[in-house]
Amino acid sequence: MSDAPAPLKSIVIVGGGSAGWMTAAALAQAVGGTCAITLVESEAIGTVGVGEATIPPIRHFNQRLGIDEATFVRETQGSFKLGIEFVDWGRKDHRYFHPFGQYGAEFDTVPFYHHWMREHLAGRTEGPIDDFSMCWAMAKAGKFAHPSPDRRLIQSTFDYAYHFDAGLYAAFLRRYAEARGVKRVEGKVVDVALRGEDGFIEAVTLDNGTRIAGEFFIDCSGFRGLLIEEALHAGYDNWQHWLPCDRAVAVPCERGEFTPYTRSTAREAGWQWRIPLQHRTGNGYVHCSQFISEDEAATTLLQGLDGKAMADPRPLRFVTGKRREFWKRNCVAIGLSAGFMEPLESTSLHLIQYGILRLIALLPDSAMSPLLLREYNAQTAREYELIRDFLILHYKATERQDSELWRYCAAMPIPDSLQYKIDHFRTNGMLVADGQELFANPSWIAVYLGQGITPARAPALARMREGVPVAERLAQIRKAMDEAVATMPSHGEFIARHCAAPVLAA
Ligand SMILES: Cc1cc2nc3c(=O)[nH]c(=O)nc-3n(C[C@H](O)[C@H](O)[C@H](O)COP(=O)(O)OP(=O)(O)OC[C@H]3O[C@@H](n4cnc5c(N)ncnc54)[C@H](O)[C@@H]3O)c2cc1C
Repeated sequence: MSDAPAPLKSIVIVGGGSAGWMTAAALAQAVGGTCAITLVESEAIGTVGVGEATIPPIRHFNQRLGIDEATFVRETQGSFKLGIEFVDWGRKDHRYFHPFGQYGAEFDTVPFYHHWMREHLAGRTEGPIDDFSMCWAMAKAGKFAHPSPDRRLIQSTFDYAYHFDAGLYAAFLRRYAEARGVKRVEGKVVDVALRGEDGFIEAVTLDNGTRIAGEFFIDCSGFRGLLIEEALHAGYDNWQHWLPCDRAVAVPCERGEFTPYTRSTAREAGWQWRIPLQHRTGNGYVHCSQFISEDEAATTLLQGLDGKAMADPRPLRFVTGKRREFWKRNCVAIGLSAGFMEPLESTSLHLIQYGILRLIALLPDSAMSPLLLREYNAQTAREYELIRDFLILHYKATERQDSELWRYCAAMPIPDSLQYKIDHFRTNGMLVADGQELFANPSWIAVYLGQGITPARAPALARMREGVPVAERLAQIRKAMDEAVATMPSHGEFIARHCAAPVLAA
């Protein structure tokens, strides 16, 4: 007989937004049947109800859960996302695309991008690097198809993610989780009981008096952090001095152009998102309360819609930053309770996904080894910091001087870790990446070049590869891209053929 500590027998999740149901679904798939999973949520409190754009790793999350893509897109009124078009960010009347996937195709030991940069700086190729993005070629033509598994084809050089209705997504995952044994309890948590000897959470009590005990608790209660902060006082690192937006107003409108990408348009005091779904377009204005009032932001948002508003603008408030301890005692915070960085690069659902997968990988037993907690907190903090730096780059790299927000951002000090990366790129055209980096080289290239950070010279090695027929290869790549896009269906046709959602009653 093994004398190893017993595995967990009960896990309690507090909160039923995207974070709660993603966690419940993944835990049910991983440990359901051997461990009781209970989720408490309060319809009276409700969810934040936004969070509709994602990045490609979400597909792995769905695959792990065995979720069929067509069913998922249909049931969430979803659409496909090839990247983000940034409008007026680096300067006004300018746009660029942050694609999911690489630029061009590799044809030498030196990366494509290095060759392109050499040609570009020498004036031998015109136009932005976007011209060599398969995602952008598809996006601007309004087309969509799955990437090819054949690595020799240009159609293998892109990736994609989804847009979906946040409420339908949580409902979809709820059905998944409940079918696998997760017990849902309706009610408002009014008390959190801590154990005398070690301060571990023992139970939560609902407004109707029900007491729910557990060995391990997951706080998915949203911004307030009901367990991790209000009960355990984990602390919060505030990053507003680097990412000053602290408000949003959100409103859906009737569907306009059905683009296979998100659009982010910089405004006077923040930026506006546009997310096309099958049944509507989601919109929001993320802004800084220091520079614009909520009413003015709502007016700006309503004026910038490309269809009739379907509801009144809904205000949301947040403090950018992260929890100092994501995992404290027997409680892990996942979702908005763990921290929030604005939705500029659609990273929140991703942080939820990675938080869950990390927790499953480091799942404790009844001994609750502090080493697991330490590792979880270290990895998660690093992940937040890397994403933070990438987001700050969008604000810092601007020539805009036309409003207070942009003047503040252009002048603000930035983390040394980000300055180091910018210096490498500006001086030598080099990309330095941390091994853990979520946003790979093409993402950094997109934002650097798209927002006006140009290297002084191409990397030295590219300048020494004299014999490589670069101009010829660039022309071949462009031709292959044009031919591939010509064969693809439109985004609308692709959805109609594979995953059209039911038309909802008005
Ligand atoms: C303006 C904005 C735009 C965003 N856009 C994106 C995006 O495009 N892409 C992306 O990935 N993410 C985005 N996000 C983030 C995304 O919305 C969240 O990460 C996601 O919805 C998860 O939220 P949550 O489940 O942690 O919290 P919530 O949705 O707030 O859910 C909290 C849950 O806890 C429950 N609860 C709270 N208190 C109690 C209590 N006392 N008793 C019982 N239950 C309780 C509530 O009822 C609810 O079920 C955005 C966020 C904001 C603010």
